[in-house]
Order: sequence, then structure tokens, then C-alpha cells
Amino acid sequence: MTRSISILGATGSIGTSTLDLIRRNGDEWRVVALTANCNVAELAALAKEFRAEVAVVADESCLADLRAALDGSGIGAAGGRTALCEAASRPVDLTVAAIVGCAGLGPVMAAIEQGGTIALANKEALVSAGEILKASVEKHGATLLPTDSEHNAIFQCLAGNRIEDVRRVILTASGGPFRTLNAEQLATVTREQALKHPNWDMGAKITIDSATMFNKGLELIEAHHLFPVGLENIEIVVHPQSIIHSMVEYRDGSILAQLGPSDMRVPIASCLAWPQRMETPMAPLDLPAIGRLDFEAPNEQVFPATRLCREAIGEGGAAPAVLNAANEVAVAAFLDRKIPFSRIPVLVERVLSNGELPEAPRTLDEVLRVDEGARHRANELLELA
Ligand code: NDP
Repeated sequence: MTRSISILGATGSIGTSTLDLIRRNGDEWRVVALTANCNVAELAALAKEFRAEVAVVADESCLADLRAALDGSGIGAAGGRTALCEAASRPVDLTVAAIVGCAGLGPVMAAIEQGGTIALANKEALVSAGEILKASVEKHGATLLPTDSEHNAIFQCLAGNRIEDVRRVILTASGGPFRTLNAEQLATVTREQALKHPNWDMGAKITIDSATMFNKGLELIEAHHLFPVGLENIEIVVHPQSIIHSMVEYRDGSILAQLGPSDMRVPIASCLAWPQRMETPMAPLDLPAIGRLDFEAPNEQVFPATRLCREAIGEGGAAPAVLNAANEVAVAAFLDRKIPFSRIPVLVERVLSNGELPEAPRTLDEVLRVDEGARHRANELLELA
């Protein structure tokens, strides 16, 4: 039976990995909406290849180019934030939420409000608006399938078990490219070095987040929202090989782990086929060749990001949204070569401790206002530096 799918962030790393799997199983899927920010050439090519109903650019200034690129194809073209949310609210069997950053929040909410199934990769949406998104999932009877590899691993390890029987959720972290550096060495790393992840091929923002360990901190917040086991029962363990994608320990002492190749097509396939399984093109893991699996505790002296994230979700209210916005600004500034790598967590901490935090947001619009305010503060602090 053919299923319908929309992919928000179709031109990105998660988007193209998803489309790679769809391409291999073309007759099983009908593509409804594909979206991008402004990568018109790629979006138009994908929309034509997959015969999408509509292609949408979030940046309205790119719409004229998209219209020209799709001229005569019969595929609808639209642009702007409202059009993006309208595309996300088209009823489909599965929405893949793979926009990067808090920019994905509105479209994710629009998809949730349709009460459908959402494969959620866009972790920043859950970090900034976890309670609000979860309340909406509940209200509209939507289903969230965690697509982030760690959360997908935990989701798989929880299947068939009771959440009350969980003792610990163990989030694994590769430690990123700078795992073995000290603070002094970290101060001199370059943009190029930070963009080279040892195990994963991902978009630029998450690659930098992996190098600072903010990615793991954001994932801690994400796990807290997805798996109600108590924040104190979610532990981060560094596992440099990225073979185990996370684990769940039960009260009888059993630990279940999910292992797999470091390729996002595995967790994406798990979401596409859920609750069944599908083929993926990766070679099976060669365990004797891998030989050993190592584990170590995270070094929060050198990488304070996980501490900052734990404190922010512990504080609750506006803190996670402020942290996320400040981190997005800091990562963009680092990628623009405006600040050195080690200033990223410093800037985030300063924004969090700069005066009183805004009141706890209760609606999506309030989250977006908190996000905007924190970006403004982060940019002011950048100017001062
Ligand atoms: P990429 O940067 O590769 O792709 C981002 C996508 O979002 C692109 O389609 C991009 O369009 C679009 N986009 C960017 N800015 C906006 C905006 N302001 N409004 C609307 N759309 C926008 O990111 P990734 O695929 O790496 O990551 C996507 C999400 O998935 C992130 O939240 C990330 O944390 C999460 N994730 C990613 C993993 C990975 O392996 N890549 C693993 C686990 C989670 P355009 O091409 O036009 O810029």
C-alpha cells in the first residue's frame, strides 16, 4: 500500500538520507511536500525526481527562482513561513521533521496539529518548546517517532517494556573530534577541524554541536521530554566508536543496547517502517573487525555544554529556549569566523546568566518571543566582545 510523506528540510543531511531510502522503495511512497530554506536548485531537482505535490522555500525571497525552476512541471511552488506551516499541515501518513534549529518549531507544531505521525529529527524544536509540543501531541493524538540516532535507539530498547521498570537511560556520545584535547588546545581549534566529525556525516550546525558537546546536552533535554524516567536517571557516557547508539538499564540490572552502523539511514528507516522493519543498503556491522567498544565519563571541565543543558532543563521555564537560541547564534558566529570555538559555551552561559530569564512561555508564540529575545541578547554580547 502506498503511504504519503512530507519532508521538512528535504535538502539537508537528514532530508536527503530519507529521500535516498524512499528512492530505493519508490512504489511504496507518495511524496506530498518537500521544503528547504533557499536551496532552490536542489529542492526543485528533488521535487521533480520524487514528483512532489508542492515544494516550499522558507525564505520568501527565493520563491521567484523556485517558481522558475518548477515552471511547466505541474508541481506547486510556495514561499515564506506561513506557506511552510501550510505545507507541514497537509495531511500525510508520515512527516519527517528535519529543519535545522528553532526555525523548525512552527512547521513541527503544524504537523502535530494534524494528529499524524512525525519522525522528529529537529531536536531544537523539542528543546525550545518541549512541554508545549508534548501537550499538543496529547491533544491532537499525534505520534512522535524519535529519529535522532540516540533517541531512536532508546525508543527501540524500550519497546515491549514498562517505563516504570527503567532504572537509567544511557545516552552515548562520540565525544566529537576534540574529545582528547585540553582547554588550552581547544582554544586554537579551527572551523575546518570542528567540521570534521570522526564518525558521522551531518549538517554544519549539528557537527559543531557535536564538537562542543552541546549536541549531547540538547539530546539530554530531548530525552527528558521523550522518555519520562526523571532527569537524574538520564546519564551521558562517551563511547568514541559510535557503535552503540544508546542504552536502557532496567531495575533487574539488564541493559539493552541498540547497535548499528554510524549512518542516519538506520534510525530513519526505523521510523519509515515503524512498527515494522525495512531493508537498508549499509553493510552489516563487522563486530570482530570493530574488536572493542570503549566507554568513558564526559569531561565537563573542558566541555561545559552538557552541564549548561542539564542546568537549563533543571531550571525549566524559558531557560532551555534561551540556551538553544544562544547556542544557535554562537554556532553561526563561529562558522562565520567571528568567535573562536571555546567562546561558544561562554556566550551561551553569559546569555543565560545575563539578567532575569523571561517568564516561562505557555504558547508557541511566547516561545518564539523568548527565542527572539535571547538571539538579540546573544548578538549584543557578541558585539561587546
Ligand atoms: P542540514 O543543515 O543538513 O539541513 C537543514 C535543512 O533545513 C535544509 O533543508 C535547509 O534548507 C533547511 N533549513 C535551514 N534553515 C531553515 C530555515 N530557517 N527555515 C526552514 N528551513 C531551513 O541539517 P541536518 O539535516 O544535519 O539536521 C536537521 C535536523 O536534524 C537538526 O535539528 C539536527 O540537529 C537533527 N539531526 C541531524 C542529524 C544528522 O545526521 N544530520 C542526526 C540527528 C539529528 P537549505 O538547504 O535551503 O538551507
